[in-house]
Amino acid sequence: MTPTTPSTWAPTGHLAPSAQTPLAITNIRPYGEGTPVDVLIDRGTITAIGANLDTTGYQIIDGTDRVLLPGLVDMHVHLREPGREDTETILTGSRAAARGGFTAVFTMANTNPVTDQPIIAESVWAKGQRYNICDVHPVGSITKGLEGKTLTEFGMMKNSDAKVRMFSDDGKCVANPLLMRRAVEYAAGEDVLLAQHCEEPLLTEGACAHEGATAGRLGLTGWPRVAEEAIVVRDAIMQRDYKGRVHICHASTKGTVELVEWAKNHGCSITAEVTPHHLLLDDSRLETYDAVNKVNPPLRESTDARALQQALLDGIIDCVATDHAPHGEEDKACEFVSARPGMLGLETSLAIISKLFVETGRADWRFVAKVMSEKPAEITRLPGHGRPIEAGEPANLTIVDPDCSWTVKGDRLASKACNTPYEDMEFSAKVTHTILRGRITCADGQAADAVDTPAR
Ligand SMILES: [Zn+2]
Repeated sequence: MTPTTPSTWAPTGHLAPSAQTPLAITNIRPYGEGTPVDVLIDRGTITAIGANLDTTGYQIIDGTDRVLLPGLVDMHVHLREPGREDTETILTGSRAAARGGFTAVFTMANTNPVTDQPIIAESVWAKGQRYNICDVHPVGSITKGLEGKTLTEFGMMKNSDAKVRMFSDDGKCVANPLLMRRAVEYAAGEDVLLAQHCEEPLLTEGACAHEGATAGRLGLTGWPRVAEEAIVVRDAIMQRDYKGRVHICHASTKGTVELVEWAKNHGCSITAEVTPHHLLLDDSRLETYDAVNKVNPPLRESTDARALQQALLDGIIDCVATDHAPHGEEDKACEFVSARPGMLGLETSLAIISKLFVETGRADWRFVAKVMSEKPAEITRLPGHGRPIEAGEPANLTIVDPDCSWTVKGDRLASKACNTPYEDMEFSAKVTHTILRGRITCADGQAADAVDTPAR
């Protein structure tokens, strides 16, 4: 199962830095704090931080009025390769990630074929490393073919070249409680993370919108909160009793917040993520019947969004994950009930988190670093990412212009698809540069070319 040609599978990302010109980011404020400093980078590592450093021979990035953050980490994206390369590829998804400030992403297993064995995971990982624009970590599926019947070989995928560290049937819930129990026990033995898409399927048959007054008025079949919350509490208790690490994908309801808080206070060692769209948007968006607003779990009510915002501030919800889900025109430009759920997220998430928390004074850039970099790296036990901005640390970094004023246009995003719910919305904060192991992967808002773009 392991490739026999190590030279072609060697991660160029780890080899490339030695050939690079050393880099200096001048006059920049790490975490938006203190007086500006210079940050020197050589061979993929931060070598010095201080005032008025000698930058002779360095390639300069002027960081004046900008904020330096650790490279962002997204533990939930869909890059669609293999299988739906017409909507996104590892290359276009990597470029979207770099433009969004991400240095590492975890791409979900619901591809075609499903990432349920080492060879597929290794192929995804190797492509990402060859492009060298973002570390693309494949998520393995929990069940073979996402069929919810037989567990995959967690150990084999973990020990493959892809080093799969997270497993999820995302898009579908592992609804069978006995199978989930076995998965949690298996995950405990292998020390891997299970990310659950919490949706009791018997409660959401035919559903396409949040079950509430809006869906009722519009005649859309409702997706009730209990379908999520029932699985959240079940799997929290599974964690407590069978010890495998359990992570809640895309928390969407006030009740989930209350249950996660209860679980954390009662010996259940779970973690949870929230998406930018569940923090910012609500089901009033459905009034237009525009399928760009269809997502799973659905946009809830404003009370849910407010509870999720507060939970992120309080640390009840651990981190932000985008659930970046590209779809082509044919899957979105159709009637609401038959459209596929999902929306783009990689290139707009930093701007949304800044808008909701930094620009309102509710939090600072340290908080953004925590929920978009440090926590997701910690939950996924990802080395080299989400690290402090200090000399000796890997140069995985993001530079933000906090006061740039830009308008979202779907057709100008790096992603292959255009299904953004933020079309024509204005934001203030924008990623200007992203740096992966000392290599600039996004400069002045534009993603770099791949180091190696193999013919497919
Ligand atoms: Zn999901």
